[in-house]
Amino acid sequence: MGRHKLGIAAAIVAMLALAWLWPEGEAPSSGSLASAEPTVSESPTPGSEDGGEAETTAPADEQAGEPTGESPASDAPASPSAEPEAPAAEPVAVYEGPLGTRNHTGSEAVALTFDDGPSPEWTPRVLDMLREQGVKAMFCVIGAYAEAYPELVADIVNEGHTLCNHSWFHEFDLGTWSEAEIRANLQRTNDAITKAAPGADIPYFRHPGGQWTDKAIAVAADLGMESLHWTVDPSDWDNATTKKQIEQRVLDASSPGAIVLLHDGASNQKDMCGALEEIFAEFARRDYTYTAMGS
Ligand SMILES: [Zn+2]
Repeated sequence: MGRHKLGIAAAIVAMLALAWLWPEGEAPSSGSLASAEPTVSESPTPGSEDGGEAETTAPADEQAGEPTGESPASDAPASPSAEPEAPAAEPVAVYEGPLGTRNHTGSEAVALTFDDGPSPEWTPRVLDMLREQGVKAMFCVIGAYAEAYPELVADIVNEGHTLCNHSWFHEFDLGTWSEAEIRANLQRTNDAITKAAPGADIPYFRHPGGQWTDKAIAVAADLGMESLHWTVDPSDWDNATTKKQIEQRVLDASSPGAIVLLHDGASNQKDMCGALEEIFAEFARRDYTYTAMGS
């Protein structure tokens, strides 16, 4: 009996303690939800993929926000194809490129993407610059060049950069071809890449000239590739564009999460390489981190 009363008394004490603690327990979590919102928005699914800096704190914030957050479960099925493991609603607009293509890294980190190579003249130089800066980037390679310069594709992979399929021979109208023709073109490109770098992952496809069609996007998805557009295009492929212009356009238009379109495979990339030095310096001043958007 006495023991029973003691038990009740203990229970009451426990409840009082709980009542005392409750408001305090709740306050930080709702407070942190509000303040965590931007952080959560910076760390959607791809956060786990890119090894960026914010990630260590991000998952904790996300968990704190989830119970009261806006129904992640009901949102998840809305975008199943693009995000394999989308745990929550996507606060950052990641797919606002043409026809819903991806134009944001999904995190605070920015991505440098180099198209139209590999080029024996410029790719090694770009790789050297990236290595000096400790930056991982993405290379959107052309199949025919991957076949011609397999050692460069291997170098790209060995240095930890990410690959993207940029069609067999930069066919601007690829997306208007028949589904079978598009598939053959992209598959041939992937085959040349994996012959050069066996087992290499090719998670992305970028349509030549960004001339996306739903058909091309669907075929790429069927081959396991996400369609990747860009946020910033300084027109560095155009010989008329000066180093200063490339620099200025990239720096003016870049913000956290930007995907920057550059070229290691155009005819004269001296200006791009020159601009890249200044871009690295200014991005460092802005405390930007980089992601290769790999898996
Ligand atoms: Zn291109």
